[in-house]
Amino acid sequence: MLAAFWRCPRPPLRRRGAVCRVAAHPEERLQYISTRGLAPALDFDGVLLAGLARDGGLYMPESWPELSFSGLAGLGYAELAAKVMAPYMGGGIAAGGLEEAAAEAYAGFRHRAVAPLKQLDANRWLMELFHGPTLAFKDYALQLVGRLFDLVLTRRGERVTIVGATSGDTGSAAMEACRDRQAVEVFILYPHGRVSEVQRRQMTTQASANVQALAIEGSFDDCQDLVKAMFNDRPFRDRMNLSAVNSINWARILAQIVFYVWAAVQLGAPQRRVAFAVPTGNFGNVFAAYAASRMGLPIERLIVGCNRNDILARLLESGEMRLAPVEPSLSPSMDIQVSSNFERLLWELMDRDGAAVAQLLGRFRKEGGFRLDNKAMARLQGRFSGHRLDDDGTLAVIERYWRTTGELVDPHTAVGLAAAEAADLPDEVPVVSLATAHPAKFPDAVLSATGQRPALPPHLADLYQRPERISVLPNDLAAVEDFVAGRVRLRGAA
Ligand SMILES: *Cc1c(COP(=O)(O)O)cnc(C)c1O
Repeated sequence: MLAAFWRCPRPPLRRRGAVCRVAAHPEERLQYISTRGLAPALDFDGVLLAGLARDGGLYMPESWPELSFSGLAGLGYAELAAKVMAPYMGGGIAAGGLEEAAAEAYAGFRHRAVAPLKQLDANRWLMELFHGPTLAFKDYALQLVGRLFDLVLTRRGERVTIVGATSGDTGSAAMEACRDRQAVEVFILYPHGRVSEVQRRQMTTQASANVQALAIEGSFDDCQDLVKAMFNDRPFRDRMNLSAVNSINWARILAQIVFYVWAAVQLGAPQRRVAFAVPTGNFGNVFAAYAASRMGLPIERLIVGCNRNDILARLLESGEMRLAPVEPSLSPSMDIQVSSNFERLLWELMDRDGAAVAQLLGRFRKEGGFRLDNKAMARLQGRFSGHRLDDDGTLAVIERYWRTTGELVDPHTAVGLAAAEAADLPDEVPVVSLATAHPAKFPDAVLSATGQRPALPPHLADLYQRPERISVLPNDLAAVEDFVAGRVRLRGAA
């Protein structure tokens, strides 16, 4: 780490773009409003439990707190998390437990730095985000959010049923974060046969009675639609007290802002600008980076890495968002065409006009596409660029990194690395690629690219021997609702 600092000259402070200031009365709790403009405003505790807003939109902070850099450089990861997140929480229940929850959450990670930065060459870096219990970056948010969730519910004397869709990694991370917690029942929908064996086993071998994975005969987008449909079924939603920990939940985005601040501060922020390359699926992770930049983190560029499901890369080039069928790839957690969190960015690009966002998304549903106007497109291209990598390219990147750096990288990480290489950036700007999963989570791709089979870390070494519990359900709302209601009744939780 240290050797790296003096290899990178620090240019003078430059700032670009305005930062919204905090509300005029900082003692007032920050409120959250829906991207569709029709749901009631909520405070952080409310947003944490609600997930999706009642009008089908996503909650967003009504203003961006300004990041205070003083004292950040010396903090450990958990302390930094508490400092970055607190201004978003006001004085609610979650805020009161934040420091302790963060300390507890990250104490269980298997690297002392929690999110170590590795230098690849003069100005390229890899941030390893796979040292949590389920080996993907989802743990960084969910280990903390699961604790905050339980805290708020317990304090309020409530219970909830969490439903979520996963393209592979959210599921196990959510189950691991919520297992054996008294106040929650968890149901995770994943596309049957379309997640890796390690991903599936991490979900189906979970023995706790309050968490359950459901294999849906469909794609990830189908799973996500089923979850949205359950939320839009008001009677079901109220009867089950439904809640979400998908990346549509603001608390997860918030917890992911932390690792961008963490990396940038180590590389010289606020004096120095940094770029990030983010392997992207549901747009939650890269949106957290956008949020960090709105708080004042000097981010030169956000590079969106896509696999063959490249709707976002196409949008960034052409200004047209056009749906295509989801195709399986070597990076299944990015096999997504409708990225839920893109709605948050759309809302920002459209001057926070909820009615306009709802209208555009309505057209997208009906016609399978829409075009951004020039102003929105200029704003988008001012911060983001995109890059697409197919499966052959992914294997080639895995092989090349193994040969030239001795690092085994997973297929998602490889997509991000290729995007970082393709981005045209000023020489002095360091680029941080996010390593979003441990290579052992996708051993087949890594093996075929390098001849090396990456070993699972010790805490998962017996994963292939653990008994599995698999429930396959059709891509049908009634069938899924019946299953969930039946289980919840059985457990006496509703
Ligand atoms: C979830 C996931 C992604 C995509 O992140 P989004 O926030 O959905 O864009 C990328 N890589 C891995 C390994 C993941 O688990």
